[in-house]
Amino acid sequence: MLPTGVTVQDEQGRFLLVNDAAAAQLGMAGSEAESPASKELDHRRTTGMELLRTGSHAVAEECVNSDQARQVFLTTHRPVRIADRNLLLSSSADISEQKALEDQLFRSAYYDELTGLPNRGVIEHRVNSLLKRDEPHGSFALAFLDIDNFKHINDYYGHPLGDALLIEVAKRLGMDLRETDMLSRISGDEFLLLLNPIQSEQEVAEYIRFTLERLRAPYFIDGSEIFASTSIGISLYPEHGRSYDLLRQNADIAMYRVKNDGKGSAAFFDSGMEREALARMKVEQSLRLAILEKRFCCAFQTKVDIRTQDIKGIEALVRLRDDEGVIQAPGTFINLAVELGLIDELTHLVLAEIVKSIDLINETFGPDASISINVAAKQACNPEFMRAFALALEATGYPERFMIEVTEDAFVTKNHFQDEILPIFRKLGVRISIDDFGTGYSSLSALADITADEIKIDRSFITDIHKRPRSQGILRAIESLSEALGMTVIAEGIETFEELAYLQAATKIRYAQGYYFSRPIFLEELRPSIPVASEARASLASRPPQENRPTHARGERYRR
Ligand code: C2E
Ligand code: MG
Ligand code: MG
Repeated sequence: MLPTGVTVQDEQGRFLLVNDAAAAQLGMAGSEAESPASKELDHRRTTGMELLRTGSHAVAEECVNSDQARQVFLTTHRPVRIADRNLLLSSSADISEQKALEDQLFRSAYYDELTGLPNRGVIEHRVNSLLKRDEPHGSFALAFLDIDNFKHINDYYGHPLGDALLIEVAKRLGMDLRETDMLSRISGDEFLLLLNPIQSEQEVAEYIRFTLERLRAPYFIDGSEIFASTSIGISLYPEHGRSYDLLRQNADIAMYRVKNDGKGSAAFFDSGMEREALARMKVEQSLRLAILEKRFCCAFQTKVDIRTQDIKGIEALVRLRDDEGVIQAPGTFINLAVELGLIDELTHLVLAEIVKSIDLINETFGPDASISINVAAKQACNPEFMRAFALALEATGYPERFMIEVTEDAFVTKNHFQDEILPIFRKLGVRISIDDFGTGYSSLSALADITADEIKIDRSFITDIHKRPRSQGILRAIESLSEALGMTVIAEGIETFEELAYLQAATKIRYAQGYYFSRPIFLEELRPSIPVASEARASLASRPPQENRPTHARGERYRR
């Protein structure tokens, strides 16, 4: 920063004194007469004369564009009377750095750093000013865009590539917008697009169809070819709302519907969607309440050795007792619990219930039966939760009894589960199982990089396995790979004798789980029948498999 520049001028604007700093600022070389004419110099002369004529003070910001950079000076002009002469004393401070900082703050307050797009505050302001116009209002559209599976892309390829993708998407979206349209990035992978004005819904539909296609084309980033689709929800003014909040919310609701219907397309808001959203909110509220009131319980399903019929372990499957006392299976609430960030608490509740019932568990299934707990992929990749969960498992005093079931999504490369989190559990003797294998994101070859103790083949491969050569082939491949990697294989969802017979005859798979052996059961239902453990195991073992029919007598019943 330069020192303060000081000048003294007379009533004709002539410079009587110019210090070095002021000379540099005004582009003066030597005396005034020798200096080249410059805009700054002219401006100073006229300002000087004017201020001395009126006898007034002034403070002004002066901007000088030098070769290197923009310089900004704050100049104070003050008339003084020295030796009977009216003179103007001016001093200038270089405030360029401060100005640059202010500019940067301004930009970061209103613009997204990554894409350079205006942020949510700016688009909200723009929409609000459209709504406040005096003249008869024209129509406009608000489109809410969300990149599908962006989290997967980020996890799989890493954050720098995720960022690059966002920039590319922003570029494609902004390609042929009009002056009066506006594109904004409102958070992570969400964009809001204002189309203004619009003539008709068809016109918007046409434009959005075109945009979707443009977004679907592959992205070439950093040597990778990336495919990404986008879901779009649209609301129209005035039909779908007369305030920014309502229009944005309704576009969001329409987008949510697209996500649920399979993603990658667009939908206009309609009032049916609003009813759906309200219903969803009700479920959300009741889930929050259920967690607060700890209205959860566990059903346990056995994992069985298909040769000896011994119970090798059990899996805890969470159940919710809703406001009306009806028992709900996790399909209705797990994803929502994950989405709402309630799942961690739920997992701790499951563990607490197991600890509370451990005597009964030992009595029923034997003291060596392993106890499996499901952990959602999102939790599995959250080191904070997993550390706390490891401590809780350790605190039971028998961590080596536990097995954690996670889906293969948790193992995708470039997240921390495999390197950072797994070792903590290994040290405690807790085992790891890959749940629902074959349905997720990873491929067979990815299995080679995964270190787990058990792999559970998803029910979709097991159902009617004896009739499906393709599934049989997949099963054989998984089987031999797991054998090579030293993982135990479990077949999930055995329901019929034919499925079991196929596994026994045609594979080396040793363990299975399914309604054929036992439905998930509530422990309290077992209490009255005393020697359950021995009876359950003896009854399974004593009958030859051909006669072994599923007994649902002790299976869980959904009741009011
Ligand atoms: P999962 O871990 O793959 O559990 C197996 C699911 O298949 C259970 O459904 C079980 O009741 C069902 N099942 C078992 N055998 C058969 C069969 O022979 N036929 C058929 N049709 N189904 C069978 P459930 O209890 O509804 O649980 C669904 C999923 O919810 C679980 O799938 C698991 O991913 C998740 N889940 C359950 N409890 C928890 C939990 O405490 N935390 C988390 N994060 N997820 C959980
Ligand atoms: Mg499971
Ligand atoms: Mg499963």
